[in-house]
Amino acid sequence: MGKTLLQKVWDRHTVRMLPTGQTQVFIGLHLIHEVTTPQAFDVLRARGWRVARPGRTFATVDHIVPTADRTRPFLDLLAEDMATALERNCRDFGIRLAGLDDERQGIVHVIGPELGLTQPGMTIACGDSHTSTHGAFGAVAFGIGTSQVRDVLASQCLAIEPLKVRRIRITGSLPAGVYAKDVALTIIHRLGVGGGVGHAYEYAGDTIERMSMDERMTICNMSIEGGARVGYVNPDETTVEYLRGRPFAPSGDAFERARAWWTASASDPDAIYDDDVEMKADEMTPVVTWGVNPGQSIGVGEAIPSGAEPGSDAEAVAAALEYMQLEAGRPIAGLRVDVAFIGSCTNARLSDLREAARIVRGRRVAPHVKALVVPGSAAVKRAAEGEGLDETFRAAGFEWRAAGCSMCLGMNPDKLQGAQVCAASSNRNFKGRQGSPTGRTLLMSPAMVAAAAVAGEVTDVRALVD
Ligand code: SF4
Repeated sequence: MGKTLLQKVWDRHTVRMLPTGQTQVFIGLHLIHEVTTPQAFDVLRARGWRVARPGRTFATVDHIVPTADRTRPFLDLLAEDMATALERNCRDFGIRLAGLDDERQGIVHVIGPELGLTQPGMTIACGDSHTSTHGAFGAVAFGIGTSQVRDVLASQCLAIEPLKVRRIRITGSLPAGVYAKDVALTIIHRLGVGGGVGHAYEYAGDTIERMSMDERMTICNMSIEGGARVGYVNPDETTVEYLRGRPFAPSGDAFERARAWWTASASDPDAIYDDDVEMKADEMTPVVTWGVNPGQSIGVGEAIPSGAEPGSDAEAVAAALEYMQLEAGRPIAGLRVDVAFIGSCTNARLSDLREAARIVRGRRVAPHVKALVVPGSAAVKRAAEGEGLDETFRAAGFEWRAAGCSMCLGMNPDKLQGAQVCAASSNRNFKGRQGSPTGRTLLMSPAMVAAAAVAGEVTDVRALVD
């Protein structure tokens, strides 16, 4: 009987079964950043422990970094403390750091792949929920908490519950103006924000197979928003070619040996799945969230639900509508937005910025909208500037910033004010997520954010694409 990629990677990395029923799994790559590591390093120091595998650990700063003025010390002393602690910890424990002035700096889930640290068949852990992003390469990648960060630093292992595998096959062609983000939001809407609990999501089907690595990363990134512990795509030639020549990818003969091993990690054709779901890409539309979790979404041409719809949770809908100050039954298109944010580890890669720039080129941001583009990494920023995308955005009235998480979670100075409505290319629309306790987030694709910025309201990007 064939095996899924999850089973193969799990088996190869199993150290032992624990009495708890969990598996102790060896972690091939530990990515760390400034927010979830200070206490973990404090424990190591207090107990006189070393980092078990510093060579398998890589650090960057992303969550708290200012994206406008990065002068040190930061005005926010808590942010400055976190950055300083990470620098000291990396120095003391011998860990490589892509710090603020490093040309490799960026959001941890953007730089891992672009540096070639992320590779197929690996186990990866990081103290951030959206570590599932790395599954796009056929890695099994876990978002972990601070106590688990401590465990991985100290032992390079993680105790994990066994997972079921749900294959989600997406078939057919995406219509123009419908993107990987819309696929991710559609999956979460249909299967629910808790639908993936206890599962790994394997994304398959010809739509996924035709996708670029950037698109696959967007889909895998959102796995956690559907409750899945991990999400992955089987490695193929697209994966291999993406990795060729990356700084930390193997080279020469080693690359060819790695290629064979990487592609052999893919699920076998006769693998058995715990669940199988199929969705048709050609029926998908641009999606916008109206509520306070990524599953509360509708197509851009639809009206905001009332909670009376079959299968709907009326209480949750009423609570979300109250927080969002929205009226049931009104079309989502035409809803005024105050802020447009293109950024985050979901959608701030070069291809995202290219697509958004295509929408804003020759247009102007609506006068009442504050619009900003925050590239996912310093490398994305340089590449975008090399193509003149920064000029396109600036000419349209966007602010062009330095790399970081920024308004995805508002741990830096980029925060919503009061109950502002933000069209965002990020991944979470939880209450207060963007730095204001009453801020309102509408998740959508970067092209839809660009369209909302110029229209000043939620609008159907399909009217603006060629
Ligand atoms: S962009 Fe948002 S989701 Fe991604 S790593 Fe940063 S804070 Fe986490």
